[in-house]
Amino acid sequence: MSTRSGIGFDSHRLVAGRPLILGGVHIPSEVGLSGHSDADVLAHAVIDALLGAAALDDIGAHFPDTDAAHRGADSLVLLGHVVELLGEHRLSVIHVDATVVLERPRIAPHRHDIRCALAGALRMPLEAVSVKATTGEGLGFVGRGEGAAALAVATVTALGGAS
Ligand code: MG
Repeated sequence: MSTRSGIGFDSHRLVAGRPLILGGVHIPSEVGLSGHSDADVLAHAVIDALLGAAALDDIGAHFPDTDAAHRGADSLVLLGHVVELLGEHRLSVIHVDATVVLERPRIAPHRHDIRCALAGALRMPLEAVSVKATTGEGLGFVGRGEGAAALAVATVTALGGAS
């Protein structure tokens, strides 16, 4: 099997007094995402998509939120670790597509910066990293502004003829 895909999903609560960090980019907002790490919901979804493509467990197994070492962690650093892990398994990431689901603020003005940051952490060309955004249309926890979610799909390919 030369290529494999994985999916990732994550959600975090929005609270006052926290920065809003998506794909490693600090986005001006009155509320931010709550969590043990920097709560970068987008980076976490991408990490789980990568781990899923490699069938290497999930983000909680690799970076447990009970581990004080990950408190306030920069999730793009964790993402870089996962890319290295895949490399050790002779897997190279060839494409990532993600969607952020957030009522406000609007993500579109920050989309390019987010793509650049993710592509840097993934060590991939910008053209191979897609970031989209949508709102909850007022529905559910996203629509009420209680939290944000993100979904991602990653495609990896085996290097050097490895199966
Ligand atoms: Mg998370």
